[in-house]
Amino acid sequence: MRECSHCHKPLSPQELAREESAGMEAERKALGLQGVRFLYYNCTGCGYADIFVDIHPLEGETHDAFRQRRRELETTVRQLHADRVEVVVTEK
Ligand SMILES: [Zn+2]
Repeated sequence: MRECSHCHKPLSPQELAREESAGMEAERKALGLQGVRFLYYNCTGCGYADIFVDIHPLEGETHDAFRQRRRELETTVRQLHADRVEVVVTEK
């Protein structure tokens, strides 16, 4: 169960923003990102958007390379979506 990282309200499947999630998936492909999955929710409690980024190590990727990729990804997503958006990066 995911919760809003701004107001901590549990997020329901109805709050999943399918269009935005699909849009981010298109961005992901355009950026050539692998080993990552985006889910975009609009919280009805506080009006913020929550972007959940699930990241997992690629085959043969070192721990340091993975950490580095995680940091860069977090920065990129925050830059792309700055306004009233919480970015939550989770390692899978
Ligand atoms: Zn909220």
